[in-house]
Amino acid sequence: MEFNDDAGLDTSQVEDMRSSGGGVGGRVLLGGGGLSIVGLIIYFVMSQFGGVAGLDGNSASGLGDVTSGQRVDNARISEQCRTGRDANTNHDCALVAVINSIQGYWRDQFARSGQTYQQAPTNFFRGGVNTGCGSATADVGPFYCPADSEVYIDLSFFTQLQSQFGAQGGTFVEAYVLAHEYGHHVQNLLGTSDRVRTRRGPTSDAVRLELQADCYAGVWANHATTTPSANGGPPLIRNITEDDIRRALDAAGRIGDDFIQRELGGGRVDESQFTHGTSQQREKWFTTGIQSGNPAQCDTFRTNNLG
Ligand SMILES: [Zn+2]
Repeated sequence: MEFNDDAGLDTSQVEDMRSSGGGVGGRVLLGGGGLSIVGLIIYFVMSQFGGVAGLDGNSASGLGDVTSGQRVDNARISEQCRTGRDANTNHDCALVAVINSIQGYWRDQFARSGQTYQQAPTNFFRGGVNTGCGSATADVGPFYCPADSEVYIDLSFFTQLQSQFGAQGGTFVEAYVLAHEYGHHVQNLLGTSDRVRTRRGPTSDAVRLELQADCYAGVWANHATTTPSANGGPPLIRNITEDDIRRALDAAGRIGDDFIQRELGGGRVDESQFTHGTSQQREKWFTTGIQSGNPAQCDTFRTNNLG
């Protein structure tokens, strides 16, 4: 995956909170308590990519118990990340470019259907973070909070995806992860998230929501090299290779419920606990999005065949 050297970046779509990270005083998002350490680990793992769908059923802890001092400091990012040339050499800037491209696509797509896309920032945090959905630690993985319409990610997740999940990694894998989270934002804007009633199980609404977010990620990828940059300049993304797509599919296959339960959760696959879909389903819906480039093909709520 390469970026166009001359395309301009919009760093206002990112909020860098890493310099004030770690603000959650030992509390995690899970309500209720009583989970064993192993249970917690499995829970977190199963919550990867989950956004709020992964946090379902657990009331987020309030904002009251989070330490103060968390703040956004975009000075470094806005200094370093000006063009696609910077994105080609600097990891932070590459993520800015990806986020710009994803939101650029949805802005245009919403406009084409007579709707207005509301921009949503991605927060880079380290350790812990306050959100409109409560406080969270990095252990929950990247997520989208519908209450404040923002994406949150501790970038160490990308390392974890390789070291713990065995994924091959790469910039486009990270783009897939971010595009999935923005898929949840699109669902929030369209009111789809409100349709979720059943939160666990192989054909649950939660699984359908997650697979649709994977499909939306693929839809963006289909249009990535033709989506203009924020200032209407040349597309931010110059090319996406077959290898990029193969790696993203590999990653999708490692965050399926069955893979995670089997490889990281003790070996037993329990469909009744599915929240995100199987590896095969995640690959299928991401592929559907990439090949069709059409959000209408992502209607996972109406199909009887999730894959
Ligand atoms: Zn998700």
